[in-house]
Amino acid sequence: MNLDTNNMEAIVAMLMKELKKVENKEEACSCCEAKNGVFHSMDEAIAAAKKAQATLFASRLELRERIVNSIRETLKDYTLELAELGVSETGMGRVADKKLKHEVTIAKTPGVEDLKAFAYSGDDGLTVMELSPYGVIGAITPSTNPSETIICNSIGMIAAGNAIVFAPHPGAKRTSIRTVELINEAVRKAGGPENLVVTIDEPSIENTNKMMENPNIKMLVATGGPGVVKSVMSSGKKAIGAGAGNPPVLVDETADIEKAAKDIVAGCSFDNNLPCIAEKEVVAVDSIADYLIFEMQKNGAYLLKDEALIEKLVGMVLTNGSPNRSYVGRDAKVILKDLGIQVGDEIKVILAETTKDHPFAQKELLMPILPVVRVKNALEGIEVSKELEHGLRHTAMIHSKNIDILSKYAREMETTILVKNGPSYAGIGVGGEGHTTFTIAGPTGEGLTSARSFARNRRCVLVGALSIK
Ligand code: NAD
Repeated sequence: MNLDTNNMEAIVAMLMKELKKVENKEEACSCCEAKNGVFHSMDEAIAAAKKAQATLFASRLELRERIVNSIRETLKDYTLELAELGVSETGMGRVADKKLKHEVTIAKTPGVEDLKAFAYSGDDGLTVMELSPYGVIGAITPSTNPSETIICNSIGMIAAGNAIVFAPHPGAKRTSIRTVELINEAVRKAGGPENLVVTIDEPSIENTNKMMENPNIKMLVATGGPGVVKSVMSSGKKAIGAGAGNPPVLVDETADIEKAAKDIVAGCSFDNNLPCIAEKEVVAVDSIADYLIFEMQKNGAYLLKDEALIEKLVGMVLTNGSPNRSYVGRDAKVILKDLGIQVGDEIKVILAETTKDHPFAQKELLMPILPVVRVKNALEGIEVSKELEHGLRHTAMIHSKNIDILSKYAREMETTILVKNGPSYAGIGVGGEGHTTFTIAGPTGEGLTSARSFARNRRCVLVGALSIK
């Protein structure tokens, strides 16, 4: 071949182009325009996830372990970025608390070790019960913990052998997409299949409905308010519903009041009350109520006494009986400022004494406003707490040293999480024993979800052999 300068340049240009293709292959999906698991079309996203799940299921469990470890390793460098992005995009929450939420999610969401097998053996042989994947899971995620839920669901669902299609809240689009991209990066680093975790570039209720209807989606997991939980539960598919709560905290006369006050303010103000488990109302026995309020004030609570101002606050934060989005997850200081009260950064919670029928006590506000309802004694407190929890069976807290009251409260509240003598977040593994999750399934009964919640129980029977009893 005659290699003159022009030829050489053409060859070099061609080689550079091929090299670029190889480099970019890591970023772009080979079968479509998707990048890092983010698709334009819901149907294409689901088809790609289906393919990825087949590869994962055909691989060794070791690959799932590697992927989960890689998610933990990769995402731990992005906790601040995701926390900041979440707060700036949604306008809700506190960066430091969100960062901590990401850290515990990454460290304490169980992986493959959560899938325990079970065996029967005897004269008729050996039967093994195993936890097997569903296939492709459609996961609907909230605006209040967008990236935390995506990381938590991804770890548990991949550990159980599934691929995931995320349908995020449109108000947390950028945060959710960024999280899906980072998870894809982690899967790739571990040698896992591309598009194991996917989403779409324009999340909407329309697209979520499309996802729910797609026959390749074998399980639906909804983390959000009552509307979306109802919607997945009536889909005709296996569904996990993690819905709203209105967690009360009961304080009786035997409690360590100073500690109770501190824990309640800390739990209620954590991420500006966005977690569904956070203290939403205090039910206090009359004999200690004044002291409890005094101690809460010492720990960063601002007591609103003026009836007219309390009424004005009701008008500000509730619109037609629903929480006004512009105050959900906002700092107490900002809410008070709009009420005409200037306070410093040390104020994290707004307190107001109300009756049990007041909207502040009845509604899940998701903002650092904490009503205090007085009761004669602990027994009345249990009744009032039950009424305020509305039978959602979500979360409740109690501060007491009386074991009879602790037992009665725990039995009668029937909540998925019950925290005794600690802040609400102890219930999700922050300063309390147990794993972390941001999908707490009260309505469908899985409770604090983990890998095993996203797996099917299957029985494999070998007849007449292999028992060594
Ligand atoms: P939301 O119900 O507005 O949205 C949640 C998700 O559902 C979003 O992705 C949204 O796009 C989608 N959605 C809402 N209505 C829908 C419908 N009719 N059809 C299809 N999709 C629909 O909730 P939010 O404001 O983002 O989150 C706060 C709520 O979620 C609170 O009630 C909180 O208690 C609850 N929550 C519960 C848990 C839990 O683990 N139980 C965790 C986080 C949040």
